[in-house]
Amino acid sequence: MIYDVAIIGAGVIGGAVARELAKYKLSSVILEKENDVAVGASKANSGIVHGGFDPEPDTLKAKLNILGVEKLFDAAKELHFPIKRNGSFVCAFSEQERAHIKELYDRGIQNGVPDMRILSGDEARKLEPELSGEVVEVLDVRNAGIVCPYELTLALIGNAMDNGTELKVEFRVEKIEKSEGIFTISSQNGEIVTAKTVINCAGAGSGKISAIAGDNSFEIIPRAGEYILLDKDEGKRVTHTIFQCPTKEGKGILVSPTVDGNLLTGPTANKVESADNTGTTISGLDTVMALSKKSVPTVNFRNSITSFTGVRSSEKNGDFIIAESDKVKGFINVGAIDSPGLSSCLAIAEYVAEIMKGMGIDLEENPNFNPTRENPHAFREMSDEQKNEFIKKNADYGKIVCRCETVSEGEIRAAIRRNPPARDLDGVKRRTRSGMGRCQGGFCAPYVMELIANERGIKKEEVTKKGSGSYMVIEKL
Ligand SMILES: Cc1cc2nc3c(=O)[nH]c(=O)nc-3n(C[C@H](O)[C@H](O)[C@H](O)COP(=O)(O)OP(=O)(O)OC[C@H]3O[C@@H](n4cnc5c(N)ncnc54)[C@H](O)[C@@H]3O)c2cc1C
Repeated sequence: MIYDVAIIGAGVIGGAVARELAKYKLSSVILEKENDVAVGASKANSGIVHGGFDPEPDTLKAKLNILGVEKLFDAAKELHFPIKRNGSFVCAFSEQERAHIKELYDRGIQNGVPDMRILSGDEARKLEPELSGEVVEVLDVRNAGIVCPYELTLALIGNAMDNGTELKVEFRVEKIEKSEGIFTISSQNGEIVTAKTVINCAGAGSGKISAIAGDNSFEIIPRAGEYILLDKDEGKRVTHTIFQCPTKEGKGILVSPTVDGNLLTGPTANKVESADNTGTTISGLDTVMALSKKSVPTVNFRNSITSFTGVRSSEKNGDFIIAESDKVKGFINVGAIDSPGLSSCLAIAEYVAEIMKGMGIDLEENPNFNPTRENPHAFREMSDEQKNEFIKKNADYGKIVCRCETVSEGEIRAAIRRNPPARDLDGVKRRTRSGMGRCQGGFCAPYVMELIANERGIKKEEVTKKGSGSYMVIEKL
């Protein structure tokens, strides 16, 4: 079969593009090198829906960030991913930084950010009592929010798949050739996919993918960001996302509640050799702790539950690269999507569809497109009475597997069956929160392994933590 479109990369950008294109009569396939979706930058980031005051005016980042924010809040009503408009505070700690706040405010106005205001330190502390006494002024960005980045990605790809998009995991694109207007894309083990149009959404790999297709016009510079996640006892310290003034390297260390009620602190910004550098360092975590306490001195890092690193895919010119390649016709680059890529993803996807129209591709509406995805957390959100009624019909929902996060067997089985299906422990964790709590899966992992083996028809010894050889057990004694 020759697909109309092959999308390389199953992150939030590949997902948003896939869902956008599912609105048209096109056959599409997503090719992903890992064994699940949302495993690159779209898994490990701050999860902030940025207001749009930070990007330089007249850049793609500024335009698509502003357009993207409201699109995300609207899409959440159809796709049921967790999102909340909590607003963000950017704090000044000195007279010099006060001038920076004014600059950010003016830039925000130029970019079209609605509903910003500047507060004194005391006014800000009335809204956020645990904010440092050293804060002298705050930019209050009320259109900003928080979102669960991997649930957003799962929802976009799940909805695209429900509408006919195919997903091929463990397909590492190694070769792209074009002959008579058709691309032949080969994987690490010789599997071949053919398509009329290729859309490169490969994140940290986007520079390399472009080069193997014949266009080496850009190179990705990976920059790591380390985080510490704290448990729900800390989640109520602040309601807004608390930023410090941004620098050239990034938006600085933030302290933010997450949509699940935890507290997130970080990220650092360090150049690294490759996007595989996802380890944490003592110095990185020390920086996160010290700078978080500068904004919110009461944060208690004894309540940390995990640390992790996400790697940004930047480019020397600082803007997103979204265009048909000059050198390879029919090949669209959507690369260097660092922050605010998450906030902009739906606007990026619409921009890609416009590029395709400009290339003369006929985008005829798909009358059968269903924009809604069933709420994967419908059970969790029920009242006790509703849960009891539901359990009468399906007893699996009455068996609690993860005690920390109260996740039932029914929810885990559904996550392994629903698009895109969970295939390993981390996949179940991202979809259901089983293993996300204080014990980090120490208690529930063996039973979750049994459920995965049972649902997938494989042996328990074949179940992995996160694909490619990460087996949990060696053999059955
Ligand atoms: C530390 C950090 C903090 C951030 N904070 C925010 C924030 O608060 N708000 C915001 O708006 N944005 C934020 N961002 C940016 C946001 O996370 C990214 O813009 C977004 O996740 C990029 O998505 P993507 O799909 O392009 O990349 P990815 O999610 O990395 O997806 C690319 C996919 O391509 C696959 N791939 C690569 N090479 C190949 C190949 N050869 N064959 C097949 N598949 C391949 C990868 O495995 C991966 O799954 C942050 C980023 C980082 C790292």
